[in-house]
Amino acid sequence: MNRQGKTRLFTMLLCVCFITGFFLTTAFIIEHSDHDCIGHGCPVCVQIHLAENLLKQLSIVISCVAFASACLFALFNTFLPVIQNIFLVTPVTQKIRMNN
Ligand SMILES: [Zn+2]
Repeated sequence: MNRQGKTRLFTMLLCVCFITGFFLTTAFIIEHSDHDCIGHGCPVCVQIHLAENLLKQLSIVISCVAFASACLFALFNTFLPVIQNIFLVTPVTQKIRMNN
């Protein structure tokens, strides 16, 4: 497996772990939302708060990734063709004969 294949595999595994963690955390919160709370220092409540913080952090990461993806999409689909037209307009690319 070449380097690009390893990178794709690693990226896919990271995405699967990310999505699995998101859904398992949500399932944990839903499953234990109506537990028999013992009050201050309840271990289930502590785990629920940790899970909520994890979901908040994941939502921030998702927002950042969505914004970065939108910026890259705009860059490659809007600005890059314009830049290529500016810098790649030469007599050779225009197929202009320059005979003396
Ligand atoms: Zn509790």
